[in-house]
Amino acid sequence: MRTLGVNSRLQPFGATIFAQMTALAVKHDAVNLGQGAPDFDGPEFLKEAAIKAIRDGRGQYARMTGLPELTSAIAQRFMHTSGVSVDPEREIVVTCGATEAILDCMLALLEPGDEVLLFEPFYDSYLASVAMAGGVAKVVTLEAPEFRIDENTMRAAITPKTRVMLVNSPHNPSGRILDDAERAAIVRVANEFDLIVISDEVYEELWYETPHRTLMTEPGMRERTIVLGSVGKSFSFTGWKVGWAIASAPLAAAVRSAHQFASFCAPTPLQIAAATALAAPAKYFEDFRAEYRARRDRMINGVRACGFTCASPEGSYFVLADHSAFGFADDVAFCRHLVEHGGIASIPPSAFYVNKAKAKHLVRFAFCKKDATLDAALTRLSIYRERVLNGEFASLTPATSVEKAGHAPSL
Ligand code: PMP
Ligand code: GLN
Repeated sequence: MRTLGVNSRLQPFGATIFAQMTALAVKHDAVNLGQGAPDFDGPEFLKEAAIKAIRDGRGQYARMTGLPELTSAIAQRFMHTSGVSVDPEREIVVTCGATEAILDCMLALLEPGDEVLLFEPFYDSYLASVAMAGGVAKVVTLEAPEFRIDENTMRAAITPKTRVMLVNSPHNPSGRILDDAERAAIVRVANEFDLIVISDEVYEELWYETPHRTLMTEPGMRERTIVLGSVGKSFSFTGWKVGWAIASAPLAAAVRSAHQFASFCAPTPLQIAAATALAAPAKYFEDFRAEYRARRDRMINGVRACGFTCASPEGSYFVLADHSAFGFADDVAFCRHLVEHGGIASIPPSAFYVNKAKAKHLVRFAFCKKDATLDAALTRLSIYRERVLNGEFASLTPATSVEKAGHAPSL
């Protein structure tokens, strides 16, 4: 009989860290700052638009490339935020979340053995998508605590087989936004080596001081960049799974070739609601940012007061903190202990690394949560901190080796 398990491309990945941590949060009745999912609803007008679409009988497949209402709304919002004019008919593909768009890009663009430049830490689906498409990931480490792209290191990773570079700003998990020097380096390298750049901009509306700018506006990038967006992030409905890719017509056509067989289309009523969402007045986006800025400040003040060191995120809804003061062997040991004994779920960032030892001292907290949730987590965190300082757990410190784990650390 044949082996009934997963193939060799996916075998190293195991269960995603988000599923593992959410299961542990439930098991230990923990406050969940792990998976990046708001514990509040997105706007009421969006829910109403989706309900209305369902009541109006919009329950059949949507146009494969995306409902015309939605592709137009995406093009208009993109014009508004970036000044770039895109053709909603030929240059946009609506997908089931940005996660599908990432996989579609890899499936559509890579020949077996083609190389993709990834910058670790990265959202965990990047590596799996490259592997599923038969590509080879070349991983460049963004060194903590700055998490900046270094041009020389990037250049050293490029070979004649490099076809794609995948960048993410605002960045999950560091919260950084690419600065001018990094953008210029990406542009130089992409143009010099004729690379396609997948620019994961799903946190485009979540910037705090410096506005997000798409990479597509940089010289030579209009034709070679695929910009990814998601309703899940910008409108606090991660479960709706409506995302998109914006790219020049030939690249969009390539992404579409994979999308038509990967899912064919995203759910019709949610696409209709998403079109309404993107046409929201400026005030929606201003309030959205102001609320998140307040959550960010609450979170960083709280975790710093508990003995963590962390930079203030410039964008996204994650804080990447240094847990060294707690005395654990690595991030998996710390996160496991914290959920079991402190009642707080977080993410061990080694899930976002190939070189897992680089993340030993780090922990990721998501702050897309109600104030009451953040306050409850911070209260628990300070109690936990006291117990650690009092030596209560001295004999419990587990010595997990993250290097031994597969791509997703096993918790
Ligand atoms: N990219 C990044 C950087 C993310 O953090 C996420 C998180 N979910 C995604 C893509 C996927 O977005 P979606 O939920 O729309 O699939
Ligand atoms: N991107 C989200 C995060 O980083 C989770 C996405 C998922 O659960 N697959 O938390």
